[in-house]
Amino acid sequence: MEGKVAIVSGGARGIGRACSERLAQAGADVVVNYLKDERAAREVYTAVGSAGRKAILVRADVSTVEGAERVSAATLEVFGRADVLVCNAGLWRGAPVEGMSEALWDEVIDVNLKGTWALCRAFVPTMKQAGYGRIVVISSTAGQRGEAFYSNYAASKGGQISFVKSLAVELAPHGINVNAVAPGWVDTEMTADALSGAEARRVAEAAIPIGRVATADDIALPVLFLCSEWAKHINGEVLNVNGGSVLCG
Ligand code: NAD
Repeated sequence: MEGKVAIVSGGARGIGRACSERLAQAGADVVVNYLKDERAAREVYTAVGSAGRKAILVRADVSTVEGAERVSAATLEVFGRADVLVCNAGLWRGAPVEGMSEALWDEVIDVNLKGTWALCRAFVPTMKQAGYGRIVVISSTAGQRGEAFYSNYAASKGGQISFVKSLAVELAPHGINVNAVAPGWVDTEMTADALSGAEARRVAEAAIPIGRVATADDIALPVLFLCSEWAKHINGEVLNVNGGSVLCG
């Protein structure tokens, strides 16, 4: 990844942080987008520096076109290029369908699905100009088999997959590969409450053929693979990184 510039949305914690750090270790400079937690973002800044690469921190709400364009403008101002885009920022909040407020439906769709579009919209012109790009969208098992009581989340994650397949064909003539990674349960702040009880964890693990909940790094390494030249012929793929749980949920 040497000489490459990678952008990671929601890159200050969880899966995003692991992606930021692995991309830096592989030689990329990293644009770390974050929403609120500046302290966490500074830790990632330091980690990228320790890997011998340069990071910039861009505070922006990527669920809006304005926020996504702010990330793109900062990237081009500092680095003048954008090779890799990891659309990772996400929210997992649900409710029974009849009790779901319009605000909750919109919030989750806006961050997960509209935000993915807004980021691609902001970065694709630069990638097209360069004739090169790697876009990886962090989807979910929920986007393939649904998720009861999180229909908004599942719809956003399924939408990301159709979006990825559309862009994979649309952008291939411009040297841009677009793929999705689909985790199942991962130990991050997103799932900390849901997995906090011993019984909840046991039930989650029982639904994963491999028998363990993933770490953020378990997801970041396959993301790095998709961004690398080893994956240059992979386009429009959904890489399931969930210990096989997508097969039996
Ligand atoms: P997380 O909550 O630790 O991280 C999500 C990140 O997105 C946070 O840094 C948050 O600040 C950021 N974010 C949220 N809204 C934003 C916005 N409007 N603008 C910019 N940043 C925003 O959770 P995570 O587990 O690391 O999740 C990362 C991705 O992985 C998400 O897309 C999630 O849906 C997906 N995923 C997670 C799991 C899991 O079990 N943790 C499973 C499947 C998919």
